[in-house]
Amino acid sequence: MKPFTYVVPKSLADASDEAKKPNTLVKGAGVDLIDRMKERLQTPERIVNLLPLKDELAGIAVEADGELRIGALTTLSQLEQHEALAAPALAGLRESATATASPQIRNRATVAGNILQFTRCWYVRSEAFRCLHGGRGPTCLAMTGENRYHAVLGWLDCVRVHPSNLAPPLLALDAEYTTKLGEQIRRRKFTDLFPAEPKAQNAEHTLEVGEIVTAIHVPKPAAGTRTAYCESREKATFDWATTACAVKVVLAGGKITAANLVLGAVAPVPLPRPKAAAMLVGQTPSDTLFQKVAEAAYAGASPLAHNDYKLTVGKAVVREALAQATR
Ligand SMILES: Cc1cc2nc3c(=O)[nH]c(=O)nc-3n(C[C@H](O)[C@H](O)[C@H](O)COP(=O)(O)OP(=O)(O)OC[C@H]3O[C@@H](n4cnc5c(N)ncnc54)[C@H](O)[C@@H]3O)c2cc1C
Repeated sequence: MKPFTYVVPKSLADASDEAKKPNTLVKGAGVDLIDRMKERLQTPERIVNLLPLKDELAGIAVEADGELRIGALTTLSQLEQHEALAAPALAGLRESATATASPQIRNRATVAGNILQFTRCWYVRSEAFRCLHGGRGPTCLAMTGENRYHAVLGWLDCVRVHPSNLAPPLLALDAEYTTKLGEQIRRRKFTDLFPAEPKAQNAEHTLEVGEIVTAIHVPKPAAGTRTAYCESREKATFDWATTACAVKVVLAGGKITAANLVLGAVAPVPLPRPKAAAMLVGQTPSDTLFQKVAEAAYAGASPLAHNDYKLTVGKAVVREALAQATR
């Protein structure tokens, strides 16, 4: 690992001032970041450790208007165990945390770090390869190479997939996030966190240099809201998803009155599928309906040489998520 200066901030304002300095990165638990630094994929001169700011940036609170505020440094264990997430409206978010990695990692990993973790593409994450997204080569090596874990939807010139479990359910829940950049506090929709055009040269998120995520906000769910998160993976645990689906439905009188559907692990960004979700609205839940919605969720897919299994498995995961949400 290249030597770096380790900054321990005394306050959020202090961290924010430090984060703006050139060639600086902020660190949550470091599960992803330190891995990348060890492999010399990132060689910052300064690391600002956010963990001393846990009093300010960790924890979950239900606000007076029913909105859930999740501090950026909240661990995945704290998230999955919080009583507010026991509600059927937030079951998908809880399950996405529970399905992540292992208990040891969930005890350390932060919510913001999970959402902002770097892609697992083995070409971009290896020092041995020079690829377009890593900024070290002319093409996406996965496009013509080993691509069983890569994208089947929404890709342009790079077939990386977005690895975060938490991002799809947060999108399905219409979450927002707050950041601090110098003196500026900004609150934006979760959809703004990911590039609209996920090209190879684009960063995986839209944060500005030095911008620190301070909290995630989940609006109070409407009465009758139910959510679910399902994923496929090769190993039973301690593994990233090969496909994932988060759904939110609002049920009234046995019918679905509103719906969101977001795919994970199949595109360079967590991918909302509004046309598929719209097919649910006004309908009574049924296997036949879920079959059609799953087909629509994967409509227009462009699988690569080694990953067309994602279409079969991914549609089954969509059907299961819908069945769980409406059970
Ligand atoms: C064996 C293994 C299995 C795993 N399985 C899964 C899985 O199934 N699903 C899944 O989703 N993840 C999985 N992970 C990934 C893991 O969940 C993430 O690496 C972890 O959540 C990152 O959190 P962190 O706090 O350590 O982030 P860090 O490593 O500290 O940071 C990650 C990135 O986020 C940035 N960052 C962190 N906090 C902030 C902030 N507040 N504001 C701005 N930028 C910030 C950092 O600069 C860095 O670029 C797995 C990891 C391992 C090792």
